[in-house]
Amino acid sequence: MSVKPAPAEGFATSVPVVIVGAGAAGLCAALAACEAGTEVIVFERDPLPRGSTALSAGLIPAAGTRFQRVLGISDSADQFAADIRRKGDDEGNAAIAELVARESGSTVEWLADRYGFPFSLVHDFNYPGHSTRRMHGLPSRSGTELVDRLHRAAEQAAITIVCNAPVSGIFCKAEGTVCGVEFTRPDGSRDHVGCEALVLACNGYGGAPDLVAKYIPEMHDAHYFGHPGNRGDAVLWGQALGAKLLNMSSYQGHGSVAHPHAILITWAVIMEGGFQVNALGRRFSNESLGYSEQAALVLAQPEGIAFDIFDERIAAIARQFEDFRQAEAAGAVIAAERIEELAERLKLPQEALTETFKQVESAKDAGVADPFGRSFAGQAHLSLPYKAIRVTGALFHTQGGLAVDVNGRVLNEQGAPLPNLFAAGGAAAGVSGSLASGYLSGNGLLTATVLGRISGISAAAMVKSGEHKLTVRAH
Ligand SMILES: Cc1cc2nc3c(=O)[nH]c(=O)nc-3n(C[C@H](O)[C@H](O)[C@H](O)COP(=O)(O)OP(=O)(O)OC[C@H]3O[C@@H](n4cnc5c(N)ncnc54)[C@H](O)[C@@H]3O)c2cc1C
Repeated sequence: MSVKPAPAEGFATSVPVVIVGAGAAGLCAALAACEAGTEVIVFERDPLPRGSTALSAGLIPAAGTRFQRVLGISDSADQFAADIRRKGDDEGNAAIAELVARESGSTVEWLADRYGFPFSLVHDFNYPGHSTRRMHGLPSRSGTELVDRLHRAAEQAAITIVCNAPVSGIFCKAEGTVCGVEFTRPDGSRDHVGCEALVLACNGYGGAPDLVAKYIPEMHDAHYFGHPGNRGDAVLWGQALGAKLLNMSSYQGHGSVAHPHAILITWAVIMEGGFQVNALGRRFSNESLGYSEQAALVLAQPEGIAFDIFDERIAAIARQFEDFRQAEAAGAVIAAERIEELAERLKLPQEALTETFKQVESAKDAGVADPFGRSFAGQAHLSLPYKAIRVTGALFHTQGGLAVDVNGRVLNEQGAPLPNLFAAGGAAAGVSGSLASGYLSGNGLLTATVLGRISGISAAAMVKSGEHKLTVRAH
């Protein structure tokens, strides 16, 4: 992943804005720059735009949308920004948190109105840390649908996406201005394209075991459930160009991945009154704090596994997710008519599991916080048939990355912007502070879509202005 001096012979081909990576961030950046009348080219390592975006549930949190209003849900950018800050223990970048909260509603409505994305609100359960219901998803509730729709929109806008073309180097002038990229063709040959602005949308370093070991040692041995092609290229190039790295220990984990089926199980199964036990049949945490921090807690249990315990009513809510339907089809979801049968099928100690059920159900009646600090107030008792899934914890994506300003420009150690380098999505530092517990559900696609769009607008504005000064603020 090299940064090299500009080739003496110049570039045979130049495109004003080059974007590396065709996930949610790169495709939103491309659409926004193209709308602004600037030619863009997107380079993607894979044969098809996919990325971690395709592996996700495709849910984007947004405040003040018409999708919320029709359901009578009142929300605001301030309320959303406060939720992001509270979950991140006030450690994240407050200006970026406010920016993405403020632009989230208009970004979701932009995709809906301009490109016809049929969003709807997840209205039937709460996500941990969100003070109201604001997760917007597509009909299948899958990220594959999100990235496929973005890809189609980009194709219809005649945006050039070059697949099977990993970017392997950046060309840079003496004063640090990026002037082009080197990419590798499927036959191994290398080619160059010049540019006036570069947007890094190639996500984080979850697919680079050495960087995970360096920055997130607690997840070094964990299964990485994100896209393997996200190998930290943005961080390595940024560092070589003098960029500041922020919150490199931060990540999104998940404590509910069906094992050994390797299918994401929505946290709705927990938030709606379900709970997790370990192989001893005992609870071990306040599950309602969040699924991200739960990854390390599950991995610390015997054999690194836990069991989601819920019921058919909750399964009916979870079935809106493509992943959950796949988990049922794959036989990951166990059903039982009695606790004893459930214990037997899961190979859990019967007495302990019965005792845990009793404790949870009396916590629901009492309506006060249990010994782990979880309140089950207002949650229905589990009813027959009971359901359970054997799960483990996993690393989903890294949240640390390149420090950026409100225009998506990458900043140097002194906080000044690099001349013409932008970053969005997992390539940029997130808004979750430094710990897994700082990840508020949806922070990933929030910064991918909103910062992607803003980077595209800003890169186009910079190119049009013909200089590297940028006063534009996205709206
Ligand atoms: C299982 C799972 C579930 C999730 N669920 C949600 C959710 O519901 N809501 C949410 O907000 N977040 C969720 N996330 C996180 C979310 O998926 C990511 O934060 C988001 O997709 C990041 O988007 P991105 O565009 O930055 O990266 P990606 O979608 O990963 O795209 C990056 C692209 O860059 C390409 N690339 C990398 N290096 C190069 C290179 N050198 N040259 C060319 N191309 C390159 C990759 O191939 C990839 O296609 C989930 C993550 C996982 C793993």
